[in-house]
Amino acid sequence: MSKSDDGTRPPWHFDTRSARCGKDTEPSSGVPTSTPIVASSAFEQADSAAIDLVFEGGEGYTYGRYHNPTVAALEHAVADLEGAEAALAYGSGMAAIAAAFRALELEAGAKIVCARDLYGATIYWLEREAQRLGWEIVYVDFADRPFTAQVVRKEEPSAVYCETLSNPLVRLVDLDSLGPACRDAHVPLVVDATLTPPCCLRPIEHGTTLVVHSATKYLGGHGDVIAGVLSGSGELIDVAKAQRSLDGTIVDPFTAWLVLRGLKTLSLRFERQCANAARIAAHLNTHHSVEQVHYPGVGRRGSPREIATLERLYPHGNYGAVLSFEITEASADEPARFLDALQLWGTATTLGDLESLALIPAMTSHRELSEERRSYMGIVPGLVRLSVGIEDADDLIADLDHALAEAIKGP
Ligand code: PLP
Repeated sequence: MSKSDDGTRPPWHFDTRSARCGKDTEPSSGVPTSTPIVASSAFEQADSAAIDLVFEGGEGYTYGRYHNPTVAALEHAVADLEGAEAALAYGSGMAAIAAAFRALELEAGAKIVCARDLYGATIYWLEREAQRLGWEIVYVDFADRPFTAQVVRKEEPSAVYCETLSNPLVRLVDLDSLGPACRDAHVPLVVDATLTPPCCLRPIEHGTTLVVHSATKYLGGHGDVIAGVLSGSGELIDVAKAQRSLDGTIVDPFTAWLVLRGLKTLSLRFERQCANAARIAAHLNTHHSVEQVHYPGVGRRGSPREIATLERLYPHGNYGAVLSFEITEASADEPARFLDALQLWGTATTLGDLESLALIPAMTSHRELSEERRSYMGIVPGLVRLSVGIEDADDLIADLDHALAEAIKGP
C-alpha cells in the first residue's frame, strides 16, 4: 500500500519521487490472467493496528521470509493437486526433505526405517543428520512388500521414508501396503514423489503423511529453477512453516512463479515423457548391447506381481519417465564413451526437464556414496540413467543406438 498524496503534504523533490517510484499506480479494473510475481521483501498495512493484527496471525502479509502472495499461490496449487491439507514451497528439493524431517521433531535415539534405494544426496544428508542427532537408520529393500510391512511393525520406528519410484533404478514401492502398515503403527510416512508428479500418483490417497518433491524436476519441468515443495498433514505443515520462517528457506517469488507456470502443462508434458520412456525401455530391452533395463514392468521388472501393483497404483499407465540400463559387458570406459557419443541427449545432472538427459549415477547423482554402498544398491559403474523428455521418440532412439554402437566399437 503506498502512502498516496492526499494534498496535505508538500511536493516531493526528484530524489524522493525517484526512490518511491512505481508505488502510486491506480488499481486497475482488470484482473491479471497470469498470477502476478510479487517481488517485495516486506508488506505495508494501512496502519499500526493492522500490522499488529497480521503479526497476531490474521490475514495478510508482513515479511517475505515468512510468506509471499506468489509463493502462496504455488502452495495452494500444490496442496490442491496433491489432495493435501496444506503445502509449503522451499528453495530446493533438499530443503523440503530437511524440512519434512525437522517437522517430525525426532529425538535422539529415534529410529527411521528407510528404503535402501534413495537419491544419493538424500542418503548423504540422512546419514550426517543421523550421526549429529543420534538417529538410527534401518535400510530395507522396499521392493519386498510383505517384508517391509513386517519391518515397520517389528522395528516400531519413529518415521518411515522412501521414494515412490527410486532414483536411479526406478524401483517401485507399493504404497497400498506401506501406507496402512504405517497408519496402523501410528508412524509418519514421508515420501519423496519427485519421479511421480501428482498427475500420475497422489501419495496422500495411499496413506502418506508428508510428500516431498524436488520441484526442480517435473513440477518446474523446464530446467530453469531449483525449488522444492512439501505437502501433507496441516498440523505438520504448521510446524514446518514456523521453522521455515526462521530458517529462511522459502522459495523466491520468481522461482515460485516459474514452477506455477510449469504446473499448468504438467500432465501434457509428463504423459508424453512417460510414453517416450516406455518406448525407449522396450527398445533397449531387446538391444544386443544392453544387459539390463530398469523400468517398471519391463524385462526382469515384468513379473505379474509388479505389473499388478503398477496397474493398481498408476491406473493411467504412466510409469515414469526415468529409466536406467547397463551396457553389455561394459568395461570402465564404455559408459563414458556412450555419453560422449550422444548427439541429441544432453548429459547434465538433473531429470524431469523437457529435454532428454543422460548421466552415469556413479559419477554424478550417487558419487558421494562409497563404492560398497553403491554396489549394495545395485548402482554398478556401468549403469546409465536416462531422463526422457518430450522430443520425438524415434530421434531419441536413433541417438541412443548410435551412441551404443560408438561405445561398443571403442576408441
Ligand atoms: N529427490 C530426488 C529423487 C532427486 O532426484 C533430487 C535431485 O536430483 C532431489 C530430491 C533433490 O532436489 P534438489 O536438487 O531440487 O534439491
